[in-house]
Amino acid sequence: MSRKIICLFDVDGTITKPRQPISPSIEKFLLETVRKEFDIAVVGGSDLNKIQEQLGTENLFEKYKYIFAENGLIAFKDGKALPSQSIQDMMGEDVLQDFINFVLRYISELNLPFKRGTFVEFRTGMMNISPTGRNCSKKEREQFYEYDSEHHVREKFIQALKKEFPDLALTYSIGGQISFDVFPIGWDKTYCLRHIQGYDEIHFFGDKTAEGGNDHEIYESDLTIGHRVTCPKDTVNQLNVLIALVKENREKELSVPLQCV
Ligand SMILES: [Mg+2]
Repeated sequence: MSRKIICLFDVDGTITKPRQPISPSIEKFLLETVRKEFDIAVVGGSDLNKIQEQLGTENLFEKYKYIFAENGLIAFKDGKALPSQSIQDMMGEDVLQDFINFVLRYISELNLPFKRGTFVEFRTGMMNISPTGRNCSKKEREQFYEYDSEHHVREKFIQALKKEFPDLALTYSIGGQISFDVFPIGWDKTYCLRHIQGYDEIHFFGDKTAEGGNDHEIYESDLTIGHRVTCPKDTVNQLNVLIALVKENREKELSVPLQCV
């Protein structure tokens, strides 16, 4: 019996360029070549809307066995929504408000090259916090990133939060250019693995697998076989290797002569 395999992909930097739509050639490869051999699934940190912007809305749920937005807090199997939890259920309103109030106060006292809007984006399983505000332009985004590399605004912010709320079981993760994510410990991408059942092997492909990166925990998880990729093209290369390997193993199995009793 050949082993049942699912390939699970991070989105940004793994099957798409960061924040860009998937290229037609990559999509064709996943749907026509990879899907012939394995089931395929995606897990992104962003919300479903952003994943749909990148992977398209047309027949999206037919293309991927599982779609996980917000690390799997929002989950679909064969297009059907799976049960979900929220950060407010987990933290409770009082604690959550203390936390958000501190964040807004802290931001109000920061002097930065510029500030725009949307400092706290509240999602199902996480908060995304941006000292400069999420609705800045692409150019401003890059400017802030440069400023932050020099002044470590996000790192200092996280240190201040850890100091103020030492007892909250929260994880902080710097990703992208202008913000960081806050979520309950364990609600990283490994969260989505609880939904995946019935496979002998889960192959995970991600680009931010180093410590502190948002693919680190799932890449290291005992439940997955991790593949570190540098860009969508590298993902294709590594998938070709995996497909060849699986085919080779299958042929070996077939060539074992049946034993007569
Ligand atoms: Mg990524």
